[in-house]
Formats: sequence, C-alpha cells, structure tokens
Amino acid sequence: MLQGKHYINGQWVESCSGRTREILNPFDASVIASVSEGNREDAKAGIEAARHAFDKGGWPQTPATERARLVFKLADLIERDHEELARLESLDTGKTVQESRWDMDDIAGIFRYFAGLADKDGGEVIASPNPDSTSIVVREPVGVCGQISPWNYPLLQASWKMAPALAAGCTIVMKPSEITPLTTLKVTELAEEAGFPPGVVNTVLGAGPQVGAELAESDKVDLISFTGGIETGKAIMRAAAGNVKKVALELGGKNPNIIFDDADFDLAVDYALNGVFFHAGQICSAGARVMVQEGIHDRFVEALRTRMERIVVGNGFDENTQMGPLISADHLSKVEGYVKIAQEEGARLMLGGTRPNDSALKNGYFYMPTLFTECKNDMRIVQEEVFGPVISIERFATEDEVIERANDTIYGLSAGFWTRDSDRIERVSKALRFGTVWANDFNVYFVQAPWGGYKQSGLGRELGKIGLEEYTEVKHIYRNHATQAINWFGGEE
Ligand code: NAD
Repeated sequence: MLQGKHYINGQWVESCSGRTREILNPFDASVIASVSEGNREDAKAGIEAARHAFDKGGWPQTPATERARLVFKLADLIERDHEELARLESLDTGKTVQESRWDMDDIAGIFRYFAGLADKDGGEVIASPNPDSTSIVVREPVGVCGQISPWNYPLLQASWKMAPALAAGCTIVMKPSEITPLTTLKVTELAEEAGFPPGVVNTVLGAGPQVGAELAESDKVDLISFTGGIETGKAIMRAAAGNVKKVALELGGKNPNIIFDDADFDLAVDYALNGVFFHAGQICSAGARVMVQEGIHDRFVEALRTRMERIVVGNGFDENTQMGPLISADHLSKVEGYVKIAQEEGARLMLGGTRPNDSALKNGYFYMPTLFTECKNDMRIVQEEVFGPVISIERFATEDEVIERANDTIYGLSAGFWTRDSDRIERVSKALRFGTVWANDFNVYFVQAPWGGYKQSGLGRELGKIGLEEYTEVKHIYRNHATQAINWFGGEE
C-alpha cells in the first residue's frame, strides 16, 4: 500500500497529530493508500517553510534561467514517469487510464511552457515626464502562495498552479484534495529529485476546513489560488480578506452547448457526447446543458440516445472502458439527488437514471449515462452543476432566444455552439458571456490560452501568459539622474 506524508522544508514528515486518512479506489471502494492527515498546525509549518524560503532562502533572487532549468527538469521527470503517474491518477480518481495519459501529456507541457516563459520578461521602460530620469516597470514574484486543488483533475489542476508559481519565483504550499492526493505527492517527490531548494515546494495533506482554511486565512500567505466549488470559493474569498491577500478562483460551471439547425449534425452529436462523458461528467467545463434548435431537436435526441446506450461503463484500467465511476459515495448520492429533482420538476427521463446492473461494478460509485429532455431554464438540472454523466436538453427557436437563455446563469466558465454560418459564429461568440467560447468544437484546452470564468465561475485566469502574471506583483522603479532641490519648504536664503 502506498504511504504518503507531508513534504515540508525539504523533509517528509508525519502529521503533528499522528493521524492518517485512507484513500479509496472509486472502482470498488478498496483502500489503496494511507496518507498523513494534516491540520492547521501542519499547514502553519508548511507556510513557515515557504515564508523562510521566500524571505531568506534566496529563491526569488535565483536567476530566472536557473528557475527555468529546474522547472524544465521537473517536466522531464514527469515525462519519464508518465505511465506510473497516469495509472496512479486512474487508481485514485477512477477515470480511464487513457484519459489519465492525456492528462499527463498536458501536464509535462504545462511545466515546459511556464519554464520557457520564466526568463522572457526583462521589464519595460516607460516614458517619464522628467527627461533626466528612467522609469521601468518590472514584475516580481508575489511571495508565498497557498494552492488548493480539487479531486476531478488532481494533478492537472495542481500543475496549472505549481508551474507558473515556481517559474515566477514564488514559494508554494500545495494542498491537494484530501480524496485524491496521490499524484500530487508523486510530483512533489519529483520536485525533490529535480533539486528545488528546501521550502520552495511544500505539500500539506488534509481536509479543506483545516489545512485549506489555514492557507486562506494566514497573514503569512501572499496569494491563495483555489480550484473547486463555488461555495468553498466564497468562503476562501472571505477568509483571504484578513490580510488582503491576492485571490485566484477557478470555480464551477454550467456550460451550454448550443446546436443550431444548420450544424454539421454528426459532428455535433459526437462532440455533445465528448463534452459530457469524459471522466463521467466530472469536469468543470462539461457541456451538460445541451440546447437544440427545434428543426433538428427530435432527430438529435434520438441520435444522442442511440450513441449513449453504447457507452462502455467499467473499470478504468480496462482499455475498452469509455467511462469510469464517480469519485465517491457522497458524490453518487448528489448526482442521484439531482436526477430525482429533475423528474419532480417535470423533465422527461429518456435514458439512464440508474446505477449499472453489472454485478462486477456493484461496489463502485458507478452511474449510467443519463438523458433528460423537455428541460426548462428555471429547472435546477439546468441551472446547477450536477457534475455527473447527465445531459439536460432544452429546445429553442431563435438565435436571440438561445443567447438570452444561455447567458441566464450565475456561471460563466465556458460555452460552445455549432453552426455552419460564419456571420453567426461572429455574433454568437461575442454575445455569449463566458471565459471560453468554442465554435464547432467543445472542451478544448491548451496551455497557451487563458482559462477562467466570467461571473461566479471565478476570479483571474490560469494558463497562458496571464497565468504567469497572476503570480507577480507589478513594480514601478523611477530613477532621477539629475535631482534638483525644490526648496518649497524654505531653502537657503
Ligand atoms: P471543493 O470546493 O469541495 O474542494 C476543493 C478543494 O478545496 C479541496 O482541496 C478541499 O479540501 C478544499 N476545501 C474545502 N473546504 C475548504 C475551506 N473551507 N477552506 C479552504 N479549502 C477548502 O471542490 P471539489 O468537490 O473538490 O471539486 C469540484 C468542483 O471544482 C466543481 O465545482 C468544479 O466545477 C470545480 N472545478 C473547477 C475548475 C475550473 O477550472 N474552473 C476545474 C476543476 C474543478
């Protein structure tokens, strides 16, 4: 069985309390690891180590080329251990091993991208009103960063935070989700192997209200970056107000996928499935809210249902499996609850709505692909994040109507739409109020493009050049080369 401890100031240490937590495999609820369970004291130790490494350890003064070298090395090590990491991620989350392999490809690329950016910004000379002066604007690392990640894409979400922070010269205290810490622990080991100085990378395990809350509240943390649910995000924002630390939030989404009558029908059906059923719908950008124009509505529903019936649900380690389990018993109950609510609110269940019959899956947290039609804007299944393999279909008549309804949500993470009309592509891309809009595609992420939400889907952006800038403070340095006395307050007679 895997063992996991906190990594603080370059040492692997047990919890102050001596407590541990069992990590379960969502496929069959078996125990796959026992890891240290931290509390506020452990979090404080991690923060102290990061504070010291930032203030006294010389990490922010380390040449950017040297920081880049270490981050590149970490990327190489992730690539070296790619298959081991992918299998560990699938064991911990239940997702298919092929999906985990794609995640690991992305993750190595993310570390490389930010390593590449680390030494590219030499500051900017700006115009000054005094000709005998020089004004420059530089970016400096923001300081100690608390980083809190969720369970659905454990290492991918952690890498979006770790890579830019380290490249920028910050020190970090990473807190992975208590349900899925294993790949973050493994990458912490790789960071040690890469040779990051003690205290630069710290990983503290434990529950959100303990370790996470300490990171959000601590006066010694300069920035808190959080990915997770909207209510937790609000709590973090409130906690962060104590020392006005910088806050970066990547929260949930309820993402419309709009299919116009003139769409390429087969592609739209295919991507409606891709948009939802990867990782059993446990994706912040899942296109679970499908809106179909009336001319093709019935044919579209039928095509979707036929393809959904064929989705192979099972063990993520079986290479034929297309969809694995949900993450936990609690989450399975939440998804079941939403299916019940949808039926009570008048949505029509066309497929699924049950756990699988297969006895081989009975101990796991499996749920069958589920399809609802006749959904309306004000239903909870349409407005709230179900985070499971559940599609709700709404019918619409006109472009104006669908834009108004799609924007009628507290979320603003991502949206997609399908049409062959290029004028419509221009109009609809601009009209949708979401951080990412895909035209004739869905769920496309890449490290060069910023990611983040409008409205209550978040604050700030990850990835892209802006993803590095989030970990910097902007400083203006003004140097006067010929300072003259002003004598306003009385000079020499
Ligand atoms: P969650 O909010 O329950 O937990 C996320 C993390 O916050 C965990 O590490 C948890 O331990 C910690 N936490 C919990 N309570 C805390 C507190 N009071 N103070 C500090 N930390 C606390 O979310 P989850 O269930 O792990 O993840 C699913 C959610 O994440 C979904 O809403 C999903 O949309 C969102 N998500 C968003 C993105 C994005 O890019 N916008 C990406 C992935 C997931």
